[in-house]
Formats: sequence, structure tokens, C-alpha cells
Amino acid sequence: MTKTALITGVTGQDGSYLTELLLSKGYQVHGLLRRSSSFNTERIDHIYQGPQEADRNFVLHHADLSDGVALVNLLRDIQPDEVYNLGAQSHVRVSFDAPLYTGDVTGLSTLRLLEAIRASGVQTRIYQASSSEMFGATPPPQNETTPFHPRSPYGAAKVFAYWTTVNYREAYGMFAVNGILFNHESPRRGETFVTRKITRAVARIKIGLQDRLYLGNLDAVRDWGYAPEYVEAMWRMLQHDEPTDYVVATGVAATVRQFLETAFAHADLDWNEYVRYDPKYERPSEVDALIGDSSKARETLGWRSTVHVEELARIMVDADIRQVEKQLAGAAVRIDR
Ligand code: NDP
Ligand code: GDP
Repeated sequence: MTKTALITGVTGQDGSYLTELLLSKGYQVHGLLRRSSSFNTERIDHIYQGPQEADRNFVLHHADLSDGVALVNLLRDIQPDEVYNLGAQSHVRVSFDAPLYTGDVTGLSTLRLLEAIRASGVQTRIYQASSSEMFGATPPPQNETTPFHPRSPYGAAKVFAYWTTVNYREAYGMFAVNGILFNHESPRRGETFVTRKITRAVARIKIGLQDRLYLGNLDAVRDWGYAPEYVEAMWRMLQHDEPTDYVVATGVAATVRQFLETAFAHADLDWNEYVRYDPKYERPSEVDALIGDSSKARETLGWRSTVHVEELARIMVDADIRQVEKQLAGAAVRIDR
């Protein structure tokens, strides 16, 4: 029987990979699209199906996570078997500039969605996109039993969403799970996250469009994985018999500086010549080190990562070089006309 899934955050990095994965498994996929004055579907344009298309299996619905009534109505209409709550204001630095907004969209919206499921009476499983940022100041390695100590409004909002998800599981017997995912990246990562900011700059420097890259703290340690592998873990969590929470990570650590070195070296560049410090990119309180222990996901779900930081940096640099070349070729065509 065809399964139906609803994805919030469908236009984001993870939403786009998860949609591809679910479509490949024969799902009917519904995505929540928020209204924007400019196009915000770049990551899913290649799989978009227009309303006139017969037998569509990927449908977008205009709604916003701040609109609880819209969530109830959508759930009633779609009757999904699985809900993946990936929508969020997901940038840690931005969460210091917009703390209340982040608290609302990243934290309270999870409660809105859980309550919408309860109120609509729809029988569904729900995945909550929890984050390693919840561990914050607690030293690594971090696993499912590590205490939370968030260091940003984003981290605090994710802790609220995490416990709300646990509470709806315990209080109402919902199949609700938290995937505590460590940083995961790809060529589709937002351009202001540090990995993509670096690989995009490498491509633009290599091609002669940029000569400086301004960054903040280079000493932070992160456990960077590859996003397409991480959405597979999300799906496996909802196929398991028992609802429970999992850490998803590579267990391999690197500093921002090491990522920089690998990315620039891959394009035969020396990062010291181009990178400059700008305190603007520091956070009021930093998360020094995140390194995950995903033994539980490995043993229970049979999930493991295969792409680690150095290969990841190379994948992203190659993709950004291709993208800049393509953009330049497009620009040349436009100028020629
Ligand atoms: P992105 O920032 O790429 O995507 C976020 C998505 O949320 C976008 O589709 C965005 O829409 C949508 N969104 C934002 N605000 C609203 C709103 N008010 N109503 C509806 N939709 C909204 O994030 P990722 O794909 O990287 O991450 C997916 C989830 O996983 C997020 O919750 C993130 O916090 C969490 N996470 C991510 C990690 C990572 O390393 N990538 C690590 C751990 C957790 P639009 O495109 O219009 O902006
Ligand atoms: P985060 O782990 O979710 O905060 O992911 P980011 O990619 O935004 O940041 C990872 C680390 O890189 C953090 O410790 C940042 O302080 C550090 N960093 C250093 N310079 C920058 C920068 O210019 N932009 C961003 N986004 N992060 C930076």
C-alpha cells in the first residue's frame, strides 16, 4: 500500500533529500511551503510536479508553521502515515538576532504540530528534527543520555521541542521520535553555514570572482556528516517498532580550520592568503565541541555514516565549482544575446 508523508521544511537541505528518498520508495509526499515574495523552491525544482500533472505523487501546500489551524486542516486533508518536522529557523547565529522568532518557529511550532495531530485525531508517526546544539556546553562525546546545556536561543528552542515530543509520546502514546542529528552538510547546505560559506568561497576564488573570505572562530570542533545519509536515518527511525530517540553522527571530529585547509587544498589554494577574521561571525556564547556517539542508531537501525569530513569538503568544493561555472556560462549566454 502506498504510504503518505507530510514534510515541513520541504524546501530546505534535508527536506529536499528526504523528498527524493521517499519518492524513490514509492511514497506520496506532501510538503509544507511557506509563502515568499521570491521563489524559494530551488532545492526541489528538479522534482516539482505542477498541479495540472496527472497522478502526482509530490504535492506542495502553502502554510506556515506559525499557523496552527492550517496545520490541523492539512493533517485532516492529507491523513499522512508519517510526518517529518524539519521546518525551523535553523541558523544558530541568526537566533541571537531573532530570539523570539526562533523560539516561536523552532520551538513552539513543534508543540503546534503535535497538538494539531492530537486535535485532528490523525493516526500518524512523527519525526522531530532535534539537534546536537542541545548539548551545547556539555563536553563530547555526546549520546542519547548526555545532559543538555544549550548555548543559543536556537539550542534552547530545540530543547523545548525535544521534550515536547517526548511528552506527547509519554502522555498520549504517540509514535513520536527525536533524531538528534549532528551537523550535516551537502552541496545544498544554506550558503551562510560555515562549510558551505567556505566551499562556495573556494569556488569563487578559484574562478576569480572573490579574493577574501571573512570568518569568525576557527577553533570550534564539529562532527560533520553528509546530509543524504542522514535523511535515511530519519526514515529508519519511523519504520522501527518502538518510538525512541537517536543520536545520528559520524563520530569523526574536525575544527573549522581543518575544514578550511582541506577545502582550499582541494582547489590547490592556500587558505592563509585569503581568509581574514571578522568578529561579526562570533557568537555571544559558542559551542566549542560536538562529537557524536551514534552506537544506538548503528545497533538498532543498522545505520552508519560512510562520508566523513575530508570527503565531504571535496564533494562540496567540486559541486560549488561546477555551480559557479554553470552560472558564468549562463551569464555569458545572456550577454551574448
Ligand atoms: P534549512 O534551513 O535548510 O531548512 C529549513 C526549512 O524550514 C526550510 O524549508 C524553510 O523554508 C522552513 N521554514 C522556516 N521557517 C518556517 C516557517 N515559519 N513555516 C514553515 N516552514 C519554515 O535546514 P536543514 O534542512 O539543514 O535542517 C532541517 C531541520 O533539521 C531543521 O529543523 C534544523 O534545525 C535541523 N537540524 C539541522 C542540522 C544540520 O546540520 N543541517 C543539524 C541538526 C538539526 P524556506 O526554504 O522558505 O526558508
Ligand atoms: P552550527 O554548528 O549549527 O552553529 O553551524 P555553523 O556552520 O553555522 O557554524 C559552525 C561553527 O563554525 C561555529 O562554531 C561557528 O562559530 C563557526 N564559524 C566560524 N566562522 C563562521 C562563519 O563565518 N559563519 C558561520 N556560520 N559559522 C562560523
